[in-house]
Order: sequence, then C-alpha cells, then structure tokens
Amino acid sequence: MIHSHSYIHSNDKENAFYQDAYSKTKKQTYQEEDIQPRNDWTINDFEIGKPLGCGKFGKVYMARERRTKFIVALKVLDKKQLIKEKMLNQLLREVEIQTNLRHKHILRMYGHFFDDRKVYLILEYAGRGEMYKLLIEKKRFTEKTTAFFMASMANALLYCHSKNVIHRDIKPENLLLGYTHDIKISDFGWSVHASSRRTTLCGTLDYLPPEMVQKTHYDNTVDLWCLGVLMYEFLVGQPPFMADDKQATFRRITNIDIHFPDHVSENAKDLIKRLLTKRPQDRIPLSELSKHPFFHCLDKKNQ
Ligand code: ATP
Ligand code: MG
Repeated sequence: MIHSHSYIHSNDKENAFYQDAYSKTKKQTYQEEDIQPRNDWTINDFEIGKPLGCGKFGKVYMARERRTKFIVALKVLDKKQLIKEKMLNQLLREVEIQTNLRHKHILRMYGHFFDDRKVYLILEYAGRGEMYKLLIEKKRFTEKTTAFFMASMANALLYCHSKNVIHRDIKPENLLLGYTHDIKISDFGWSVHASSRRTTLCGTLDYLPPEMVQKTHYDNTVDLWCLGVLMYEFLVGQPPFMADDKQATFRRITNIDIHFPDHVSENAKDLIKRLLTKRPQDRIPLSELSKHPFFHCLDKKNQ
C-alpha cells in the first residue's frame, strides 16, 4: 500500500474520481494532451485510485496527476525484490526503451521516479485492460477483428524496428487495450536494442521462434514469427505449438508442426504460414504485410 493520505477513501469522492476519469480518458489521447515531461516527479504529484492489477514485482493503480488531472496508470514496484531477483537492470532497460517510444499502439511511459522502497512507473492508462482477458471471454476472434489487431501490431512493430528496438516478447499477456479497443503494446522488459545480434534464450516458450530454440543468431524477424503465433492464437484461441512438455513444444516449433481448424480461411492460413517460416529471411516483411489478401476483409466494400 502506498501513502495512505493520497489514497481516495470515501465513496462519493471515489465515484466523482472515476466519472471524471472516465470522461477524461475517453477524450485523452497521447497526441492531443500529454503530461509535461519532468524528471522530478514524486508520489505527492498523484492521487491514487483503484488497483488495476498485480504483477510479479508490484501493483498497478489508476492515478491522476493533481495539477492537470491527467489520468495515468501508476506501476509501483518493490525495489528490494527487484534487486534480489536481479531484475533492476532489465527494468531500467524497459524504462529507457518505453520512455523513448511514441506510437499510438505502444503504451506510453511518461516517466518514472523512486523513493526509498519503491520504483514508480508513470504509464498511459489502458481503459479496457488486458487483451488476454478479451480473448478468453470471446474464446477466439473473428478474421475481421484479427485483421484489425494485426494491422495495428504491424504498424507498431514497424515503428519499433525503425528505432532498432526488437520486442521479442509479443503475446496476448503483453498487450493492453485502450477505450476504443486499440492495441497498446506493453512490457518492454524483454525487448532489446538491436544494435548487436544476441543469442539469449528468453521470451515465452509458446512464442519462441526456431532460431531461438536452436540458440542461433536472431534479429528483428523474431517479432515476425511472434506475430504469426499471435495471429494463430487470435483466430484459434490457443497458440499453435502447444504440447504436454517443453521438449515436445520445442520439437513442434522446430518442425513447424502446425494444424488449422476448418474455420480458418485460406487467406489467413497463407499469411500465418508466411510469418511462421523456419528461415527468418523468408518471413513476409512488415512493410508488405498490409498488402496481403487477408486484410481485404477490412475493406469497406466487404463490410
Ligand atoms: P508481469 O509481472 O509478468 O509483467 P503483469 O504484466 O500481469 O505481469 P503488470 O505489468 O505489473 O504485471 O500489470 C499488472 C496488471 O495491471 C496487468 O495485468 C493489467 O491488468 C493491469 N495494468 C497494467 N498496466 C496497465 C495500464 N497501463 N493500464 C491499465 N491496466 C494496466
Ligand atoms: Mg506486465
């Protein structure tokens, strides 16, 4: 729990807070309004609202900057635990990368600050929460919804790659949703600057590309692979290479052992196969993705 004096207790006050917050966040987009960049934030600059969720290292709260009433998500992490688990460096990398990225489909990080016990990240508030929950609720997405999300993802990743940032950990758990169901990529904890080719084994098993399973070199085409796995999971409701144990998943990934349920269209299958290729250089480039016939389902005349 953070400073009790800044927590909103009374129901009336709380309701007013959320009503105001709701109308504000609906209007508030990062382009129109922004909180001024500052490097001297403290917890006293924020009123803290309801908890939004818990992560491994701490809690996320809805919060409002006192001066501008700008709504944000405040991620409060335990310093001791970060140090104990040797995660502080990774966190600082996440902070550095995310703070420098400005894109509609990338969760903004407005800044960060510390006190004795905690690290605070000031994040864009994602009004509709987690993509993962939406997928569970809907079981699977239609081709049109999938195309809508995939187009946003391609756009955001094209931007990341132009800044030499590889995300490496694209999966539904790391995607949040804004009020209008626009994707917000978050969790840059695993992402790296692509200046040097790296061979660390990381990311989630289900989304690991063959070149990472085999620990050979990889580059920004790993995100293309993950995009293929994501597209499959959106359309089918589960990732393509699931198996009972790690070894079996590894085997399925390296053999690209993929099966499609009958409801998946030929265009969708074709695009997934063009993203899930063994040789990284054979994967369809992001710049060509939107020209693929799968995206024709987004055309006006097909609505
Ligand atoms: P991990 O510790 O592995 O990253 P996590 O992603 O679930 O797990 P957090 O990133 O700390 O942990 O987030 C915890 C939860 O808080 C999320 O699952 C999400 O529901 C909510 N949340 C996080 N950031 C935001 C945000 N910017 N806007 C709205 N809700 C958020
Ligand atoms: Mg997270």
